[in-house]
Amino acid sequence: NTPRKMQALDALESNVRSYSRSFPAIFSRARGSIMLTEDGRNVVDFLSGAGTLNYGHNNHRIKAAIADYLESDAVVHGLDMATPAKIDFMELFNSVILAKRNLEYRFQFTGPTGANAIEAAIKLARKVTGRQNIISFTNGYHGMSLGAMAASGNRAYRTASGVALSGATFMPYDGYLGPDVDTADYLQKVLADESSGIDCPAAILVETVQGEGGINVAGREWLQSVQAVANSAGALFIVDDVQMGCGRTGHFFSFEFANLSPDLVVLSKSLSGYGLPLSMVLIKKEFDAWQPGEHTGTFRGNNLALVSAMAAIDLYWRDETFAQEVLRLGEFMRRRLETVAVKHGNSFAVRGRGMAFGFDCQMPEIAAATTRGAFEKGLMVERCGPVDQVVKFLPALTIDFETLDHGLEIFEQALNEALK
Ligand code: PMP
Repeated sequence: NTPRKMQALDALESNVRSYSRSFPAIFSRARGSIMLTEDGRNVVDFLSGAGTLNYGHNNHRIKAAIADYLESDAVVHGLDMATPAKIDFMELFNSVILAKRNLEYRFQFTGPTGANAIEAAIKLARKVTGRQNIISFTNGYHGMSLGAMAASGNRAYRTASGVALSGATFMPYDGYLGPDVDTADYLQKVLADESSGIDCPAAILVETVQGEGGINVAGREWLQSVQAVANSAGALFIVDDVQMGCGRTGHFFSFEFANLSPDLVVLSKSLSGYGLPLSMVLIKKEFDAWQPGEHTGTFRGNNLALVSAMAAIDLYWRDETFAQEVLRLGEFMRRRLETVAVKHGNSFAVRGRGMAFGFDCQMPEIAAATTRGAFEKGLMVERCGPVDQVVKFLPALTIDFETLDHGLEIFEQALNEALK
């Protein structure tokens, strides 16, 4: 039956389909870190819906909250009307996440995708500053809609739109210019120099760890300098925490380790905790320049997603236990991946923070053969980086040690075979 259904998929779905090509199977059920295919295979999931399933598939503790909510006929969709779910979510997020970190933000629920929230953040920065230019970074990724893509430092994605996009300037990411050149200093200088041709920006938009760009990890001091440049230029400092937020780096926000105070924070992916679409922009009060109705959308803050988001925060973020466990599992992953790299004479690089890791194979063919082989052996991992040369590891933060170890074992076998 599976081959017939795959044929139907090929005939019916647009040529743009991608994951169904990388992982040629029909996935019917999923629980925790395991996905089940229709023909009875168990696949360990180190992809986690591209960072959307930090608490695993069908987390039964979060599911209970969703089921109760549905059972009670509470409001699921109400545009952005007031509901108990929305107010309770904001109050819980405020007390459990923000107040403990001395952060104060207003909430803007945007359309349900990461790109929708990035668009809102860019619009708001332009509105607040009256400026146009957005500074972002080479290999950065912010989404596929036109504005978000214009700010993504990947020419291939931008070209695919067939539209000349402008309004963004790309700066080299952390260390790109070499160890002796501080890219934040460089940025400061070009902004101060009127003849540089770079317009004073409305915002500087950054990922603290570039996800799609290849798990490129920015350092604490560099991030602090970039924030300082934004502040001194009168630009909003925006952290895109779509992929690295919600615990991925071992802290709820990826910027906590560097004590940053972004003007806007963009969250999506794992925010709902269950794979339900939910995105928001956190806005410092002084920059909440929106007038009522200036940025709307049919799907904003879906109540079911807010209920699951609340359950996730309640279950995992009331104290430090979960974050510590994430860091512990992350250290195990790092050691394990570094051991693999060392075995191969260190011709590969391991990068990451928390539980986000990249294994840079340097060559796309090796990375492709490894991920293909891994899938045949029962592990789902994807590739990232400018030429897809990096194998990306984003296991669920709730994964048990045995499954994590098993997945890493499969990866190592697949890499060894790819190198034969
Ligand atoms: N920002 C970052 C850092 C991302 O990783 C992504 C998605 N990979 C996006 C924005 C866009 O999110 P979405 O695909 O939900 O539009």
